[in-house]
Amino acid sequence: MTNEEIIDLSEAHVLNTYKRFPVAMVRGDGVKVWDASGNEYLDFTSGIAVCNLGHSHPAVVWAIQEQAAKLIHISNLYHIRPQAELAALLTEKSFADKVFFCNSGAEANEAAIKLARKFFSDKGQRRFKILTMEKSFHGRTFATLAATGQEKVRKGFEPFLEKFTYIPFNDLEAVSKAIDSETAAVMVEPIQGEGGVIVPDKGYLKGLKEICVKRGVLLIFDEVQVGVGRTGKLFAHEHYGTTPNIMTLAKALGGGMAIGAMLVDDLVQGAFGPGSHASTFGGNPLATAAAMATVKTILNEGILQNCLTMGDYILAELLVLKEKYGFIKSVRGKGLIIGMEIDAPVADIVKGCLAAGLLVIGAGESVLRFLPPLILTAEDVDEMIRILGKVLDKV
Ligand SMILES: *Cc1c(COP(=O)(O)O)cnc(C)c1O
Repeated sequence: MTNEEIIDLSEAHVLNTYKRFPVAMVRGDGVKVWDASGNEYLDFTSGIAVCNLGHSHPAVVWAIQEQAAKLIHISNLYHIRPQAELAALLTEKSFADKVFFCNSGAEANEAAIKLARKFFSDKGQRRFKILTMEKSFHGRTFATLAATGQEKVRKGFEPFLEKFTYIPFNDLEAVSKAIDSETAAVMVEPIQGEGGVIVPDKGYLKGLKEICVKRGVLLIFDEVQVGVGRTGKLFAHEHYGTTPNIMTLAKALGGGMAIGAMLVDDLVQGAFGPGSHASTFGGNPLATAAAMATVKTILNEGILQNCLTMGDYILAELLVLKEKYGFIKSVRGKGLIIGMEIDAPVADIVKGCLAAGLLVIGAGESVLRFLPPLILTAEDVDEMIRILGKVLDKV
């Protein structure tokens, strides 16, 4: 099928919930993807921070093929080997004591919100309020919509699940003030992704933890976008010298397979027991085998170091562009989640890049976001900068 045929079929039958670009990608390899007409693109989106090892990484392909031939699904009525192994690996490499598996970021955050309430309910305490941040993004289900501090995402779906309050990111005093005797948890992305790649001030996340501990409130990190190597550490919070009670993962965890996870510390793990929460597909053999291969590869093959090196290189190159183009306001990020704030229509630049063979995305209204695979090379960065420069010349 050609691009046009796929687009016609899609527009005729798929519910129109996405603003899609008029191309259909049919193949990927590393940092490159190809559309149905054979056009090649340099992918600086990684399927929105999902394909951190690039497209069709051999370790992930092999794990999926091997597991699919053995056992695809069995249900959580029984123990599952790759699920147990993945949980062992994630807890070994993090603050966490136990892991719950589901299928997406929103589901992982739903689990976190439920667990926070159950933790206090079990103790007979009336704590059910959750503080989240302005410009945050936590998902599209009802609880996670309620948690999301962006009006444009929430509009039209009222009334929401109650007891969520939004406070400004990077403002410790606002947190102290907003916590009261009914507050159960503070939920925050260590780096805000959809909100515009907003990085935490020095000491912010550590300060949050101190306030939470002092006031008897749980801390939840939503690492759905920034976890699994994206920032150059396995988990983003490792950069900031602190840990949460609960952390959620999804996007990159399965190397492209749908999987979500909630990691919990020893303090809170007992709040869920048999019957508290469940998922039919959660942690199924195929998804967890893919995730196991993904996490092991990220940890074993110098990929985190490459992420840091390439992240620094991209930042430096973007700063050169900033000197040249007055409409670039700032460049920021950590590892390979990088945002460029521009005083020009981001959508036009994204379109221009696509036409020139480069995939990038926006974040918020004024930020161009770079989320390349962590395996990219300096030549890939040079090619990206060359294409981007050509597009910016026309702004
Ligand atoms: C993408 C994202 C989610 C939602 O994940 P889904 O898998 O789309 O449900 C939640 N939180 C953050 C920070 C995200 O980036």
